[in-house]
Amino acid sequence: MAYNKDILGIIEQFDSIVIYRHVHSDYDAYGSQLGLKHLLIANYPAKEIYAVGDEDIVNPEFLEKMDTVNEDTIKNSLAILVDISNAARVEDDSYKLCKESIRIDHHPYTETLCDHEIIDTDASSASQLVVELAKDSNWLINEKAAEYLYAGISTDTLKMTIDKVDKRLFEDLAYLYGTKIDTNMVNRMIYDLTVDLFSTETKVRNKIIFDEDAAYVTFNTKELEEYGLDYRNAKDMVNIMGNIKGINKYAMFVQTDDGKYNVSLRSHSIPIVQIAEKYGGGGHPLASGISSINESDITDIVKMLKEAR
Ligand code: AMP
Repeated sequence: MAYNKDILGIIEQFDSIVIYRHVHSDYDAYGSQLGLKHLLIANYPAKEIYAVGDEDIVNPEFLEKMDTVNEDTIKNSLAILVDISNAARVEDDSYKLCKESIRIDHHPYTETLCDHEIIDTDASSASQLVVELAKDSNWLINEKAAEYLYAGISTDTLKMTIDKVDKRLFEDLAYLYGTKIDTNMVNRMIYDLTVDLFSTETKVRNKIIFDEDAAYVTFNTKELEEYGLDYRNAKDMVNIMGNIKGINKYAMFVQTDDGKYNVSLRSHSIPIVQIAEKYGGGGHPLASGISSINESDITDIVKMLKEAR
């Protein structure tokens, strides 16, 4: 997409910029946030650039620590929200205190969060949109930024296997590859499982319930403990159902400490986001989530998944 020249103008006006991501961050949230942070540091060395959010990051070996910013700085800063579809999913509410705000996102529009919104649902990932911002602004891409952005794009496209992988994405990747990226290292960092987790994944495969052209896995908190899984690892295992012939729609139900269940819904081609929306969730047409449902809702959701046409 062509970025409105005003966006670059706004970025240039501010001495400090705070970048926000969504709750339960995935690599696209981290990648777009930290990729943008390193692009801004490299291209505007005089500015103060901060990335904020929960310190409990998924892969501290690859990702980096979040910044702390005092309230006075926040009040004089530009907020940039990346990969965030709605207000409830912003990890840190302090963006509301910032002087001005920009959102860069690829989820379908649900509500306005910022003064300036760049929303492009044709993009594969928020990280791709950050690459395009760099391209349109003629920014230098440095290695750290490129690695983070590559991680965001690779994971949000399920290793380049979804329908958003198109000419535009390959052109953006070619631009990203203008700098050196150690893709082998990044792939090892983001995809390699520990032997324990790999073995657990094998057990989880046997837990999949197949029902017509749908498949799903449920985990209650007791089972999470038995399998030695934390909530995040269990959620990520939704992808093990993504390459089964004849299975077009699939779901992961993971119980949270309050006894409710978090839901991940996926589909290869038939939209399923309407099911998520019915329960207060949302996301993309083919990849969506619900923060909290009752155990008794699981049967209905599986039925709707099967019946989605
Ligand atoms: P997940 O299954 O949690 O990985 O989420 C899949 C997609 O749906 C991601 O793009 C999320 O940002 C989005 N999503 C997940 N949960 C929600 C929710 N409660 N409300 C809106 N979007 C969501």
